Amino acid sequence: MANLDMPVSKLDGIGKVKAAAFEKLGICTLRDLIYHFPTRYENRGVVSRLAEGRVGMTQSYILTVSTEPKMARLRGSLTIVKFRAFDESGSVEITYFNQPYMRDKFHVGETYRFYGKLNEKLGKYSMSSPVAEMFREGQPLPDLYAVYRLAQPLNKKVIRECVSQALVLCNGELFDTVPGDIRAKYSLASLSYALENIHIPEDLASLDRAARRLAFDELLETALAVRLMRNKQTQSYAARMMNTDISPFLDTVPFELTNAQKRAVDDIIADLSAGKGYDAPRMSRILVGDVGCGKTVCAAAAVFMTVNNGYQALIMAPTEILASQHVNDLAPQFAAIGYKVEKLTGSTTAAEKRRIKAGLADGSIDIVIGTHALIEDDVVFRSLGLAVCDEQHRFGIAQRAKLLEKSPRAHMLVMSATPIPRTLSLVLYGDLSISRIDEMPKGRQKVDTFFVNENYRTRLNGFIDKQLAEGGQVYVVCPAVEQVEDDADDGAPTVSVFDTGAQPPLKSAVEFAAELGDRFPNANVAYIHGKMRPAEKNDIMSRFVSGEIKLLVSTTVIEVGINVPNASLMIVENAERFGLSQLHQLRGRVGRGSRKSYCILVSDTDGEIATRRLKLMTKTNDGFVIAEEDLKMRGPGDFLGTDGARQSGVGGNYRMAALCQDASIPEAAGEAASLILEIDPALASPEFAALRMRLSRAMNASETTMN
Ligand code: ADP
Ligand code: MG
Repeated sequence: MANLDMPVSKLDGIGKVKAAAFEKLGICTLRDLIYHFPTRYENRGVVSRLAEGRVGMTQSYILTVSTEPKMARLRGSLTIVKFRAFDESGSVEITYFNQPYMRDKFHVGETYRFYGKLNEKLGKYSMSSPVAEMFREGQPLPDLYAVYRLAQPLNKKVIRECVSQALVLCNGELFDTVPGDIRAKYSLASLSYALENIHIPEDLASLDRAARRLAFDELLETALAVRLMRNKQTQSYAARMMNTDISPFLDTVPFELTNAQKRAVDDIIADLSAGKGYDAPRMSRILVGDVGCGKTVCAAAAVFMTVNNGYQALIMAPTEILASQHVNDLAPQFAAIGYKVEKLTGSTTAAEKRRIKAGLADGSIDIVIGTHALIEDDVVFRSLGLAVCDEQHRFGIAQRAKLLEKSPRAHMLVMSATPIPRTLSLVLYGDLSISRIDEMPKGRQKVDTFFVNENYRTRLNGFIDKQLAEGGQVYVVCPAVEQVEDDADDGAPTVSVFDTGAQPPLKSAVEFAAELGDRFPNANVAYIHGKMRPAEKNDIMSRFVSGEIKLLVSTTVIEVGINVPNASLMIVENAERFGLSQLHQLRGRVGRGSRKSYCILVSDTDGEIATRRLKLMTKTNDGFVIAEEDLKMRGPGDFLGTDGARQSGVGGNYRMAALCQDASIPEAAGEAASLILEIDPALASPEFAALRMRLSRAMNASETTMN
């Protein structure tokens, strides 16, 4: 058996319990482990003097121990080791809980690099359980340490050790998936170099080279998959819709379409009615346009045309909340025309599900709106003519493929509110025709955007008071759900190691909501996050929509699609943690009604790039401009994300492409994919054997992890 397929339980130090924890992370073999990439890196190389250290931030200090460590017993078996250490600017008390051996580790006069969070109370500094590495002049310590997604009882250290073992064992089996000439053309590191340095980077430059290569691989995989899918589809036909008159639908729309909307609708009508006889070449179109530009009405026009021609239509949204919103908006409109609309989601009761499935199978239901539940195997349509996917970036290519598969005669329309850079759209949507909606409905006001730091907190609270007093509603977005142990990956959006040494502490939705609840007792403060049950989320959201809740604290679950016209203020905490296009989407949650609206980005970052990015947000409201700038400044990461909530790749997430800073990678990957398929359309030659294996493994994996 090749070592790559060896189970992790064979590694030194891995027993049953740890093997089970690895399995929870989806890691069974050494291959899985080697491809379990870090989510970020601790940059212990940024060293501060105590006097200049920023309280609450995690960073390094080079300190000399000045008192012998003392151990005390607390309740029961709890212990605490305490001692003091200093540099030329000040001194600090250091404590370790429940690590009695720390008493014997440190001795007066020894110097260590301590990496941890600096606390301050009454002018006195302290650090709790910092990482300590012996410091010797002239013997540099490594700067970068990988941080991984964890599962108890695995910690960073165990994962790091296992990965090191795995790399040694598998050395020699890591066949490069990209042939040498293509690597040379795009200045790519070899696969084995990249895998080693992504886990154990020698320095920033090697990490950069490693991330670049692995990012290239992920995007190449996608580019190849969409191109292969398109090649398969060019022969595929769907229902041709001959009746192109959509005026009965337009009569129910209370406004005039913008020119951009009209163009998009014309594109769709032309697609659906193209071809000969009963067959139209299957439409695969994406509607891209900023939040609020009015994509829904274009999709609804397509739905109307479909049903009016005797077929059924489905609309699939990424969350229950969005599905409900579409139902609330569209059901009355279609009911007025005489069409039957139903909702099908994960929380639909079993009896309801049975009834709806029967109605879809016998054709008595015209339109169904829902979530992934719609693509379960036992949902069968009598005559599905159109599938609409909302907020496309939340669906992977695999889902797209599955949707196509289950509805062989249906056209497909996807909607995305993420204006993405042109080069990246060629990688991700190489198989789709694109309609850009680059115009806002008349009378839309610009959302005024400001970038402030903690010093503005009091004024900011005053501003919230004012908005509430005027009857407006407020969103506060936090990057994390709850405060987490220092050791754990905090699950927050990834920050680049290049961005800034020290990181501002994270605001979490649950704790911050409690704080705001005290400060704004009349606002019915509530919070919502992705880990809540759908019913709970729906309840909170509908109370916000109705105006009962006036201040809603949330994670990015509200990022896409939600429409609450009365909301006038969007505050984003730890704004440095979010991608620009993500911020842009969040900002789009306000300014949807008649109220003058504001977006306030709060960040204590001192990173230069982070600052530049946030300033850009205050200057432009054009999503396409922001997208191109974001790509230039941060690479493709913000469009891909690491948390699986955003665009997911063929084989899972774009873990590395999301970290990669290199703006040229999408173009390189797109170009390389075309080049490779030109040389060898079936990837049949030995030169591409490793690549073909990787691609088929990824496609299989994405098939099994679809839901
Ligand atoms: P998105 O593109 O973000 O999905 P929606 O389709 O939800 O945007 O539209 C946002 C809001 O704008 C909705 O309330 C919709 O009714 C309204 N709207 C859409 N098109 C127009 C238009 N041409 N004129 C005025 N209002 C419009
Ligand atoms: Mg929408």
